[in-house]
Amino acid sequence: MTIIPHHILVPTDFSMYADRALAYAVRLATALQSRLTLLHVIHSTLLEVPGMETEPTYHTYLHELEETVSQTLQGMCQQLRDAGIPGDIAIVHGVPYHEIIEIAAAKNVDLIVMGSHGRTGLAHVLLGSVAERVVRLAPCSVLVVRETEKQGA
Ligand code: ATP
Ligand code: MN
Repeated sequence: MTIIPHHILVPTDFSMYADRALAYAVRLATALQSRLTLLHVIHSTLLEVPGMETEPTYHTYLHELEETVSQTLQGMCQQLRDAGIPGDIAIVHGVPYHEIIEIAAAKNVDLIVMGSHGRTGLAHVLLGSVAERVVRLAPCSVLVVRETEKQGA
């Protein structure tokens, strides 16, 4: 069993909740000398619509989306490196909870740090559906940073 999380996965949907989870992970990584992987899952359900794969505007849209995601994650990763934390990025297509647990297994991460909520959900539910499924199914421990968490100095 790993006591110290050497490799921490931070899945982000670019919401303020995920940003808070990242801030938490940065504190942990600094204290424990861990490395971080930032992951975004592009939820490409539209690909399942018949005929969509031959739709040129859809490809342009996906390409631009990938480009924006990549630049944003790389910017975040640079901030990590500036803070002395080794970081890398991952961008995959699929169903978010599923890809998060797949990447956690494939990259052999020790801990997932994620938000309790995200961009699409209702703040009054206890946990978003992605957070809830990752907690249940992940191959490693999961730290869910709560919306109401006190952010210490
Ligand atoms: P729901 O999606 O069920 O409507 P929600 O959007 O409020 O609810 P979740 O999607 O469960 O809540 O988000 C919780 C956390 O999961 C986010 O803070 C983020 O860390 C992670 N997450 C959610 N979606 C993605 C995604 N597409 N890629 C990577 N991480 C994600
Ligand atoms: Mn969501």
